[in-house]
Amino acid sequence: MEPIVISTWKHGLAANQAAWEILSSGGSALDAAEGGVRVTESDPSVHSVGLGGARMRKGWCSWMPASWMPAPGRWVRWQPWRRSENPISVARRVMEATPHVLLAGKGAFDFALSQGFERTNLLTEEAFQTWLRWRRGETDTREISHDTIGLCALDSRGHLAVACTTSGLAWKLPGRVGDSPICGAGAFAEAHIGAACATGVGEEALRVAGSFLVVELMRNGYEPAMACREACRRIRQRSVRESLPSRPYG
Ligand code: ASP
Repeated sequence: MEPIVISTWKHGLAANQAAWEILSSGGSALDAAEGGVRVTESDPSVHSVGLGGARMRKGWCSWMPASWMPAPGRWVRWQPWRRSENPISVARRVMEATPHVLLAGKGAFDFALSQGFERTNLLTEEAFQTWLRWRRGETDTREISHDTIGLCALDSRGHLAVACTTSGLAWKLPGRVGDSPICGAGAFAEAHIGAACATGVGEEALRVAGSFLVVELMRNGYEPAMACREACRRIRQRSVRESLPSRPYG
C-alpha cells in the first residue's frame, strides 16, 4: 500500500517531512505520527504547540494535551500532559504501558517521571513577552489564538495512526479542557475506514464529536472532503441555533 501523511496547517510541513522519512523507509504509521509531531512540539517558533506555546490567561504554562489513536490496534489511549517538551511521546507511553485511556493531573505527572521523562520549562522568553503584551491589551489575538498539530499517517502495511498535540487555545481559563485529548473530538481513527483530526476552537469540535463524525461519515460512504464539509455544516448549524460564541476566549 502507498503510504500517506497529512497534517493540519502551515506548521505541518516540517512534521510531514519527518513523518514521510519514516514511512518511506518502511516505518510504522505510529512511529511516523509520533516522529512528525515531535518536530513541531520541539520548535519554539510555533506558539501553539509544545515548547514556547501560549500561556493560560493567568500566565502560567498550559497543560499540554496530546492524544493517540492507532488503527487497527487493541489500544486506544489519550493523555493530557504538562511540561514535557514532547507530550505526544508521554501519551504513547500511556497507550503502550498502561490499560488506561486518559491520565490527567498529578497522576499523569508522576507517571511521566516514573517512565523517565524529564520535566521541562516550556516558557520561552518570547512566549512570556507575548503574554505580557496580551495582559496590557496590546496583542492581536488573531496572530496567536490557535494552531494545534494533528497528523494522520497510513503505512505500507495499511495501518493508520493519528497524533494530536497542542498547548490549547491561548489565554484560556485554568481548568478548561479542549478537544485535543478527547477521543473522537480532536482525533479519531478507524481501521480500513480513515482518520481525522481537528484544529481551531476546540469547543466546536467537542460539541459535534468532530473527528469521530468525519470518520463515521466516511464509513457511510462520504468522500473525505464531503465528510469534512458536513462536519463544518453541523458546527455552523449548531452555533447558529444555540447562539454559541465562535471565539470563546480570544
Ligand atoms: N483545538 C485547540 C484547543 O481548542 C486549539 C488549537 O487548535 O490550537 O485547545
